[in-house]
Amino acid sequence: MRKSRIIAGLAVASAAALVLMGCSSGTPGETASSGAPVDAEPFVVSTDVTLTGSPTFDRITKAGKVVVGVKEDQPGLGYLDPTTGERTGFDVDIARWVAATLGYGEKDIEFKAIPSANREQSIINGDIDYYVGTYSITDKRLDQISFAGPYFITGQGLLVAADSPIKGVDDLAGKNVCSATGSTSIQRIKDDHPEATTTEFDTYSQCVEQLKSGQVDAVTTDEAILIGYAAQDPKNLKVVGDVFSEERYGIGVQKGDTAFVDYINTMLTDGGAIWETIFQNNLGASGVKGVQPKVDAAK
Ligand code: GLU
Repeated sequence: MRKSRIIAGLAVASAAALVLMGCSSGTPGETASSGAPVDAEPFVVSTDVTLTGSPTFDRITKAGKVVVGVKEDQPGLGYLDPTTGERTGFDVDIARWVAATLGYGEKDIEFKAIPSANREQSIINGDIDYYVGTYSITDKRLDQISFAGPYFITGQGLLVAADSPIKGVDDLAGKNVCSATGSTSIQRIKDDHPEATTTEFDTYSQCVEQLKSGQVDAVTTDEAILIGYAAQDPKNLKVVGDVFSEERYGIGVQKGDTAFVDYINTMLTDGGAIWETIFQNNLGASGVKGVQPKVDAAK
């Protein structure tokens, strides 16, 4: 089904953190034989990749590039530095790792920022080849698309002003809580906490602005996202309370492309050392807890 000789060893930026191992062959997620950086590529790019029975891989091959949906306003996860134009984050590096494993390096990746509410439709339309951006695997979404993964697990939390009396999800009565349209986060507040009022925007960064200017009392979404915002402004923002959901992040792909899902899942399963390095490079110092989850059969 596939014949990939060299795969995705991490050769990034922070060389000191690298864990590169010896050579072997044939499976996604393996590291390069030398482990040496290749032309400043963040990941060693596979060669001779064949993947039969995947409409997504066929489309990528025809286009000669990979189009990836991401977030770009979530520090630590999916972030575009407006000054340098550099994209960073755990999700962005997972997306790069997938691309490298498919045989595509940085110059052959086109990133598209797509907000939470538009993810399924972008995948259905074929606007993107896959999506990596704090995207929870849910049954409702599985009706429309498929997921590889999970590659990360977090839970819903609350971000409030440093001097807020809100200590957790039980303190939301009469409070105005902001989250992103189309997210599991906004839906959970509507379903389980009708005592709160809600405000919605396309992105969480808009909610954070509203929180800072006192227009809303809290921002709610996955704790991994909120920790990134709090870290940018620790004087004024804090994450409070226990998480109150389980969010299993998957890589969204065209529905029914099981060959593609299986390929990515094998990469994740075999690439534990690479996953760990990506985690440490992006979230290790942040306080976000992380252990690589086992991939499962959710497709
Ligand atoms: N993980 C949740 C979701 O997929 C919230 C974060 C997001 O909107 O990306 O809906």
